[in-house]
Amino acid sequence: MKKILVTGGAGFIGSHLCKRLLDENNIVICIDNFFTGRHKNIEQFIQNPNFRLIEHDIINPIDIEVDEIYNLACPASPPHYQYDPIKTMKTSVLGVMNMLDLAKQNNAKILQASTSEVYGDPQVHPQIENYWGNVNPIGIRSCYDEGKRCAETLMMDYHRMEGIDTKIVRIFNTYGPNMSPDDGRVVSNFIIQALKNENITIYGDGTQTRSFCYVDDLVDGLIKMMNSDLIGPINLGNPSERTILDFAKLIIKITNSKSKIIHTTLPKDDPTKRQPDITLAREKLNWQPKINIYEGIDKTVKYFKSFLSCN
Ligand code: NAD
Ligand code: UDP
Repeated sequence: MKKILVTGGAGFIGSHLCKRLLDENNIVICIDNFFTGRHKNIEQFIQNPNFRLIEHDIINPIDIEVDEIYNLACPASPPHYQYDPIKTMKTSVLGVMNMLDLAKQNNAKILQASTSEVYGDPQVHPQIENYWGNVNPIGIRSCYDEGKRCAETLMMDYHRMEGIDTKIVRIFNTYGPNMSPDDGRVVSNFIIQALKNENITIYGDGTQTRSFCYVDDLVDGLIKMMNSDLIGPINLGNPSERTILDFAKLIIKITNSKSKIIHTTLPKDDPTKRQPDITLAREKLNWQPKINIYEGIDKTVKYFKSFLSCN
């Protein structure tokens, strides 16, 4: 049995990854500081003898035995990562260094959850891995974008200098059950607003685009990447791109909601478009998303409905 560390394991993606790794008969150690993670996301594993929870902040070093590390710890929604930008940067720099040191000590493989944000407001479309991006280094998103870029640099430098088996995955907008209802991302906001028949808040005119990937597909890709010989970076996401306005209309339709669309201020540096080029993942990992938006949103709506009925 492999001992696999998932940092950020009580968060949205991390909790799905813990489940899959436990189902595949691994020992899973979850590290989380519960900044955006929730006990509810992992309560189903607590009684499992193969699961261990360590409440810990990755900006501090830790000494445990592991074979593989999935480093997911970092707030992902703009309101949360902008809440304490200095802490966000520490998580992506000091936290990643601590995880790389742990990988070195254990001779373990390490996968870093990077992001499409490393491309900033992209001038190349769709985004391909060899594009270096268009990132504002001093804006309100920089703590996250530049933090994640620095994390990629650290991964590559530890790989070159220390021979660590590192893997970089650039995740594009992912959604599904276990998203925090109050994390302010577009999928959770629109679904909750629609279910409550409240106004759907589009920031700006809604012509900006995103490409949404269902979490099960993403988790497949993360595990395939960890089990491959690749170093990356590699894009993981669903190339099916849509405007935020179309996405709002889709959510209203699927939920049969009476919500009206309203437009509010567009946050600074909000990327105008985003679509992954997943040729590399298709060819090298034999991976591509399988779940279409209707199926994925349907499962996500069911999750938020049951959340709202309990609260
Ligand atoms: P999330 O906010 O739900 O989960 C992040 C988890 O990390 C939370 O449980 C949080 O408590 C924990 N955490 C944060 N800082 C920590 C620290 N210093 N020490 C220990 N734990 C800490 O976000 P998510 O959507 O599940 O994202 C997981 C990872 O994937 C993040 O690294 C994020 O940057 C990356 N990512 C996500 C998306 C997406 O669309 N969801 C897109 C690109 C990249
Ligand atoms: N957005 C929106 N209304 C909301 C939340 C987000 O119009 O209530 C927009 C946001 O401005 C961005 C897109 O939806 O253009 C995706 O936002 P999210 O915060 O989910 O993730 P991002 O891809 O920007 O990191």
